[in-house]
Amino acid sequence: MVGATEFELSAGATDFIDDKALQALLTAPPPDSGRVRDVIAKSLAKQALSVEEAGVLVGAETPDLQEEIFAAARQLKRDVYGNRIVLFAPLYVGNDCVNDCVYCAFRRSNREEIRRSLSQDEIRSQVGALERQGHKRLILVFGEHPRYNAEYIAECVRTVYGVKVGHGEIRRVNINAAPQSIAGYRTIKAAKIGTFQVFQETYHHEAYAQMHPQNTRKGHYLYRLDALSRAQEGGIDDVGIGALFGLYDWRFELLGLVSHALHLQQRYGVGPHTISFPRVRPASGVDLPAQWRVGDADFKRIVAILRLAVPYAGLIMTAREPPDVRRELMSFGVSQIDAGTRIELGGYTEAGDAQCLQRGQFELGDIRSLDEVLGDLLTDGYIPSFCTACYRLGRTGEHFMEFAIPGFIKRFCTPNALLTAAEYLQDYATPATRAAGEKLIAAEVDKLEEGPVKNELVDRLRRIREAGERDLYF
Ligand code: SAM
Ligand code: SF4
Repeated sequence: MVGATEFELSAGATDFIDDKALQALLTAPPPDSGRVRDVIAKSLAKQALSVEEAGVLVGAETPDLQEEIFAAARQLKRDVYGNRIVLFAPLYVGNDCVNDCVYCAFRRSNREEIRRSLSQDEIRSQVGALERQGHKRLILVFGEHPRYNAEYIAECVRTVYGVKVGHGEIRRVNINAAPQSIAGYRTIKAAKIGTFQVFQETYHHEAYAQMHPQNTRKGHYLYRLDALSRAQEGGIDDVGIGALFGLYDWRFELLGLVSHALHLQQRYGVGPHTISFPRVRPASGVDLPAQWRVGDADFKRIVAILRLAVPYAGLIMTAREPPDVRRELMSFGVSQIDAGTRIELGGYTEAGDAQCLQRGQFELGDIRSLDEVLGDLLTDGYIPSFCTACYRLGRTGEHFMEFAIPGFIKRFCTPNALLTAAEYLQDYATPATRAAGEKLIAAEVDKLEEGPVKNELVDRLRRIREAGERDLYF
């Protein structure tokens, strides 16, 4: 049994999800095209939408209006964020779990799952393998277990930063772990993390209760909804929200995410740094009803509407999705993807070509290598970026900087993306990827305005290629 005293909340914590109010927005008559266009225009003027305005976009059912929403999402991505895509990899540290989430292979009642927690040495060996692929940014992922407490998470972060193989190093570690106490967040923050992610999974109270048994820690809806408010109060202002699509009506979840973003923005003056929108995947020992499964056409709407509704946030699309979906939706404003991903515990050194569901959390849709994904990005005209400059220079909220400060992308993001791409091409790329990458870098450099930034960039690219220097950033 879980005691109520274990559930510390932030000062003034409130349950800001009013199911009835959100349902009412979703059952309103379809908006007329004028209203939909007004909302789109607001978003294109770089203003975050209200929940009611997001509801207008969700209610736009005609193919023509949906096409306008897609076009606007593409435009916002192009005009505001440009053509960079940030790459990262997840590293699963331990799959023991005290919870019993119906959709997850790690849930405690799943006897099929092979349980494992990596030792610090095993973490080093996984990180070494990731560095040899060319990764610079990781997210550490944990089940929920007393063993994975804040001190342990902090220790894992320090271990990761300590691994350096050749030119390889991890420059930013994000976390996806159970909600922490305020003191716990402080401990983890001190190990110098980037983003702390907690997904609400479903914002709908009844669906939440069905998915998360009441006698488990995760069964406490408000404790989880409040998780990232406590993070703010523990000094972590870089937080990522998310919903697991497929547990309830996607329209409701979308309004839940927008409500959450607005809540953080209003309460702490800073909205979520990232939003994740995973779709439920097949998993070992999981048999989830198909009722709320989200098809590709609706998924496309989700991504486009999120882009417009929370225009300052980074959007993360993971390797849960198959390559074709990733490719198409990238243009709607996705800013980060993982690549070369394996989620079996120990998978970066031990997994073969096939996935082993009993060793991981769910089935991935895309297990292509980092080099292959990168090659495809280059073919599609994206600049792959491993940039970590904002975080390391104390410029918190990298996507927010890009979004809010005119000229920031030209002065910082694009040059930094090109520098990190050049490092990758020198150290890790296959000949074909290197050739495609050097071509893209040359074209991107050509596009930059003449002036000191361009001159400095050209010089730094030369230092990377000819002098073997690394980690040069603006
Ligand atoms: N255990 C921590 C927690 O629940 O907050 C850390 C997160 S868990 C290891 C990572 C995320 O995977 C969950 O928040 C959930 O959204 C997602 N997930 C779980 N089962 C999934 C499935 N079958 N398909 C896709 N995503 C899933
Ligand atoms: Fe445990 Fe997280 Fe899986 Fe739930 S989603 S069973 S808390 S690992």
